[in-house]
Order: sequence, then C-alpha cells, then structure tokens
Amino acid sequence: MRASWYDQFSDSPDALSSSRLERMVVPVLDLEIGGEDFITMAGPCSVESEFQLMATAIHVRRAGAKILRGGAFKPRSSPYAFQGHGLEGLRMLAHAREETGLAIVTEVMSEIDVPLVAEYADILQIGTRNMENYALLEAAARSGRPILLKRGMVATIADFLRSAQIILDCGNPNVLLCERGIRTFETALRNTFDAAAIALLKQISHLPVIGDPSHAAGHRELVPALARISIAAGADGIIVEVHPNPDKAWSDGEQSLDFAGFDTMMHELKPWLALRDQAGASEPEQMEAAR
Ligand code: PEP
Ligand code: MN
Repeated sequence: MRASWYDQFSDSPDALSSSRLERMVVPVLDLEIGGEDFITMAGPCSVESEFQLMATAIHVRRAGAKILRGGAFKPRSSPYAFQGHGLEGLRMLAHAREETGLAIVTEVMSEIDVPLVAEYADILQIGTRNMENYALLEAAARSGRPILLKRGMVATIADFLRSAQIILDCGNPNVLLCERGIRTFETALRNTFDAAAIALLKQISHLPVIGDPSHAAGHRELVPALARISIAAGADGIIVEVHPNPDKAWSDGEQSLDFAGFDTMMHELKPWLALRDQAGASEPEQMEAAR
C-alpha cells in the first residue's frame, strides 16, 4: 500500500490493511464473506408479508443468493411512508432462514433496538442515514454480530473508514463496507455509484467490500450493469433488491428486480465471476487456466 494512504486515513488505523491483517474474512453461518466466493445478498427492500418474503427467499436462493435481505425497521424519506413491521418482520425473516437456510441481513435504526434485531439477524445493517450515528455503531458493534456498514450518502471515504474504526475499536472485527452510491450534482439517477471507492477500499483496507447497485442506481434497468462494475472493481459481494411484484412494492419498487430479472442478472454475471476467479487464482493456476 502507498505510504501516503496511511497519512490520509490516519484516523482509522485499524480499518487499514497491515502486514498482520491483509484480508479479513467475515464468517456468517457457514459462509465466508471476503473469502474466495463472491456473495450475493438479495431480497425485498421491506419485509411486507410472510408470502412476499418466503417466495422471494426461495427464489433468490435457487438463483444463487446466499443471504436474504429485508428491512423490518425502515428509514423512509417521508415520515408518512411505511416504517416497517418491526418485530413481526424480524420473525418473518427468522422463519425464512429456517425454511431456506439463507443467512439474514436486516437494518437496525436505533441503539434501543440492537438487542432485539441482533437476536434475529445474522448481520446487522447500518443504513446510509445512520453511518455517523456513533451511539448506534457502538451498540451494534457490541452485539457481536457482523455489521454491514453502508456508506453515508454524503460521506467521504475518510468519514466512512472513521465509522468502521468505531466498530473495530469496540472489539468487533467483522465489518463489511458497503458502497451504495453518494450524492453528487448529478440528479438523473438516485445516487452516483462510486466504483472507484470500491477499488480504493480494496487496496487500502482488509475489510470485505460489498456493492449495492440497487440504491446506487434507483432504476432496475441499471442494476445488472452496476453489479458487473462491482465485480470488476473488486467487491466481495453485492446486495440487491428483489421483489415478486416490484410495481406493487411498499418501498423502492422502481429499483427492485422481479424474479426473472434477478435470474437473468445472476446468469449474466457468471462469465464476470469466472474472470474474477481467474484474476484471483495463484500464478500456477492461472497458467493452467490459460492452457
Ligand atoms: C435499504 O437497504 O433498503 C436502505 C434503506 O439502504 P440505504 O441505507 O443505503 O438507503
Ligand atoms: Mn431499499
């Protein structure tokens, strides 16, 4: 790593890779995030009903997802929009895990809810709006669950790493850095996907990096391309919104893939993942593959 990165991000020493910790593999059930396998997390933006969640879980698992996403506590832009089913939603997520074996990632919005959400979730998601809520970060870190930390929509990479540092400093090494798009002067899309941030984070940090093409794009037509870009930039996985009937979704329908769209994306990602495997393979393996 370039020595100047150490100076630039000196507030977050534990989030930077070192000779001692070049790469962190985060264990979740029987999965390893940040290891060799590219991990797809998929599911609805919000948990709406038992049927919606279970149908989605079964479908995304069949298509190759390993982790089910779904919000039970929802940070909505409007105070009058659906705020999530809370405990009922967490129960539905746990039921879907029981039925499918998928691990669960779900957002926690308040430090008061951390013990409850940690009881049901395998990974706690900290949303973009809470990236700098340090009391929440500390409470989530102390739950001992792995944390999917989303980049704040107006956070620099240094701000992002500082939040990761807070979690690490509480003794929780299992942080996943999630690039979900940032606000720029561009308004054509919901956010601007910062692919360079993924590439940089992979160079300077030992922590796994996850791309979120759904919240970055805001439009489902662009999700597969941003998923490909995530792979090319070096991400360890993606988190994608999928809904049985996106036009009827209670939140983020515009950016949610339907089942057929998810299948197509997963199928079309295969050659890109094969390239990734090849690039990550050791030299003798690469020579073997080139023969
Ligand atoms: C979500 O994952 O549904 C979500 C609200 O994400 P973000 O915090 O990135 O907007
Ligand atoms: Mn969403």
